[in-house]
Amino acid sequence: MIIIMERDATAVNVQAVTELLKEHGFQVIVHEGDVHTVIDALGDKTTLSPGRIEALDGVKQIKFIREPFRLASRDRKSEDTVIEFENGVKIGGANRPVAMVGPCSVEEDYEGLLQVALAAKELGCQFLRGGAFKPRTSPYDFDGLGEKGLQLLARAKEDTGLLVVTELMDSTDLDLVYKYADVIQIGARNMQNFKLLKAVGHCDKPVILKRGPASTIREFLLAAEHIMYNGNEKVILCERGIKGFDSSFTRNVLDISAIPVIKKYSHLPVIVDPSHGTGQRYLIEPMAKAGLVAGADGVMVEVHHNPAKALSDGKQSLSISQFKEVFTKLNALIDTLHLEKSSTISFVE
Ligand code: PEP
Ligand code: MN
Repeated sequence: MIIIMERDATAVNVQAVTELLKEHGFQVIVHEGDVHTVIDALGDKTTLSPGRIEALDGVKQIKFIREPFRLASRDRKSEDTVIEFENGVKIGGANRPVAMVGPCSVEEDYEGLLQVALAAKELGCQFLRGGAFKPRTSPYDFDGLGEKGLQLLARAKEDTGLLVVTELMDSTDLDLVYKYADVIQIGARNMQNFKLLKAVGHCDKPVILKRGPASTIREFLLAAEHIMYNGNEKVILCERGIKGFDSSFTRNVLDISAIPVIKKYSHLPVIVDPSHGTGQRYLIEPMAKAGLVAGADGVMVEVHHNPAKALSDGKQSLSISQFKEVFTKLNALIDTLHLEKSSTISFVE
């Protein structure tokens, strides 16, 4: 990192900075400019919080050369991370983009869930998604069936062979969710719930980490870093839209550019969720396509057997017939894109 001192920083100020850096094993070179003294520090930033340096008198600014997300960074690992499941399904790298589909919430009607799961199977989707523990903005809204919902997902898995994705909201439910999930989802609202990130970091199941609605891409990658730092490197990032100023037609702003940005700076797989990203059923097809063209390793889409009666997110859920129509087109697009993906997407700089 490079530390720029204030114009009026004293020799004592500079010395305090260099001493702190040296104490933490940094190699230090001091450049005395005409106006500012600049300190070049080479070493392991994880041993010294930049905040400690910033707090010293006379420090104007710190510039970082490396990204703070070390484990998630491309600098550490240039090849794409590929996450593999027991049944051979793979996410990431040159593998065919995957599809995770299902209702927002798992509901009592098993036949409805099964209809969705069977259609998903038929269309070549690999994952059934559905929440049993639902984070809801209002306490009056349906907040999930809990273990009963997980059991219904397990039944659908048995009946179709689809892998199960479901959300964990509280680390006290980790053992329970672990038992039923093939992928544990950390929802957007919990992206910076550090205790929860630590808890899933200690387990060995793949984790889908959804981007917080008001989080920068760097914060998103740092949240992934928390999971990896605690031992679990099987992290799948999910772009699901961020808050914008214009909610006149859409619920969120789906940040498609986040996908290639993440691909450039991280080796982790990234999927796109156009349901939550837009809040509108009619935008699922175009935005799923956009995400795939931008390099997403998969899509997550809400599908309900009767969206008009869904207990959550019906407006952004496809009906089964719409699902078939949209995914037939997405599969055709994936067939075309796959040719390019197998030679590794690279961007002209
Ligand atoms: C969901 O996937 O149903 C969900 C609640 O998503 P998000 O955390 O992105 O809002
Ligand atoms: Mn939802």
